[in-house]
Amino acid sequence: MAEYEIYALKYAGPFTSSGAFLMWRKDWEKTVQRNYYFWCLRGEQETVIVDAGIPPELAKEKNLAGYVSPAEVLFRIGVRAGEVHHLILTHLHWDHSSGVGLFPKATVYLQEEEYSFALKNPISRRPPFQQSSDEKSKTYLASLEGTNRLVLLKGDQEVLPGVECLLAPGHTIALQAVAVKTSQGTAIVGSDCAHIFRNYQEDWPSALIVDLIGWMKTYEKLRKKASSPDLLFPGHDPLMSKNYPEVAKDITRLA
Ligand SMILES: [Zn+2]
Repeated sequence: MAEYEIYALKYAGPFTSSGAFLMWRKDWEKTVQRNYYFWCLRGEQETVIVDAGIPPELAKEKNLAGYVSPAEVLFRIGVRAGEVHHLILTHLHWDHSSGVGLFPKATVYLQEEEYSFALKNPISRRPPFQQSSDEKSKTYLASLEGTNRLVLLKGDQEVLPGVECLLAPGHTIALQAVAVKTSQGTAIVGSDCAHIFRNYQEDWPSALIVDLIGWMKTYEKLRKKASSPDLLFPGHDPLMSKNYPEVAKDITRLA
């Protein structure tokens, strides 16, 4: 049976914001910190990257604190971005997908609904959606449409033995979480289904919502799927860097 180790790779941060940003309509008076991450799943046969981070040009434009190119971080564990064959994009927000061009040989796995909303629905051009979107990488993805480098998934689907994409709406219209077989059981790389561990623990999502009811159902689904609540991982929690063994600078092993 294929099993993977899961690594969290920090490529920017920390950033401080109001607590209400990451805990919907509460913690207004508190502050909260977040980092930017992507993930590497290492199996005996395959290496799968979950999310692509941000390319250097965009990081410069956004003046992103603590930024290191995702390709550079990845190389610290011996993985060359240019040689990666499998890239899962959880959703099309710039902090997760604008770096797709850093992986020129990868097959990209994305939910069809997420793709068609972000690229084809005029509502995605309105200001609240534009704020989290990146045009360049969307154009790049559009150039892959119809080739074998872009696989558009319709709902839950195993992409490799031991790696299953799970439709998990709420934060975006069709975010996908990734269920991964590990030596500890099934773990969930949930990306922004939760920004911090507290979102799962307190059953309380962030303020970045397109569908709150969908989000609640997603939490039920992911809890059922994970072998233990400790194996549900969020998208931006600095505790991913703190509470797990560090294998290289900015890289920890989650499971
Ligand atoms: Zn994010």
